Amino acid sequence: MTTSTNSVPDILLNNGQTIPQFGFGVFQIKPEDTAKAVTTALDAGYRHLDTAEMYGNEKETGQAVAEYDIDRADVFITSKLNNGFHEPDVARKAFDETLAKLGTDYIDLFLIHWPLPTRYGGDYVSTWKTLEEFYRDGRARSIGVSNFQPHHLRRLHEECDITPAVNQIEVHPFLTQDEVRGFCADHQIAVEAWSPIAQGGVLDDPTIGEIAKRVGKTPAQVVLRWHIERQDIVFPKSVTPERIRENIDIFDFELEGADVAAISALNKNERTGPDPDVFDYIPD
Ligand code: NDP
Repeated sequence: MTTSTNSVPDILLNNGQTIPQFGFGVFQIKPEDTAKAVTTALDAGYRHLDTAEMYGNEKETGQAVAEYDIDRADVFITSKLNNGFHEPDVARKAFDETLAKLGTDYIDLFLIHWPLPTRYGGDYVSTWKTLEEFYRDGRARSIGVSNFQPHHLRRLHEECDITPAVNQIEVHPFLTQDEVRGFCADHQIAVEAWSPIAQGGVLDDPTIGEIAKRVGKTPAQVVLRWHIERQDIVFPKSVTPERIRENIDIFDFELEGADVAAISALNKNERTGPDPDVFDYIPD
């Protein structure tokens, strides 16, 4: 089934730009498999792609968009500054390279991938000020951060001019992130939920299974709809064409408040990924 793009709502960001609330993530998709997966997603109605320099598939993501019969303006593309590139001059060069690899002269959203508070003398502020340059010169329509905790965001709030448009963090039923989401809501920062189905880890939960059976949807669809009801932005990854289509087929039903609450109550503060306060990985 091809889903109409009109069925995906837009979220209004704090700078007046909009972002499709639902998209396609390409983490862990091999470069040689990326064009096929992105094309399948575009066929299914996805108009928002989430990549990163770290994923090694910016070039193939950009090529798939360029070769598809669609205007660049009709696809929302996000990429992220890799961990080795935080120093301002290095970040400027890395951003040029991201645009070149994507084959575009602007990006819809550019993020600092990780705060790396134990690297660079704890200075993610000068990195953020460098992203502000990309926003001011128009090559990044919006800028944001990823994996920032409230104390990291507070520092940007106190020392910088521009509030991040988004914070992309791990969120799923086993990690509801109430504190970070609360801080973001108070500061008009939209939340993007990465690993929205915990890489499949939440799909066997009996509460989710019971709701899925009752509403006639799959566990993955119920969890993705839960994110939509909570107003977060999501972009599940899959290389399986049936799942790519299944995941976007969530705009013909709603979850009752009691079901949203029951899924939120599954929280056990369990991460599938690293803790941003100690994560210090820099790729070779
Ligand atoms: P997801 O929670 O999206 O899960 C992806 C996994 O679930 C894959 O193994 C996929 O398998 C499987 N899957 C997908 N759909 C279904 C389905 N309907 N039923 C059963 N299994 C399914 O994990 P990701 O970690 O990929 O997160 C999504 C995106 O978030 C990433 O692609 C990336 O864009 C972003 N992200 C950002 C991070 C950050 O630090 N900013 C960190 C991690 C992710 P298969 O592919 O085999 O079908």
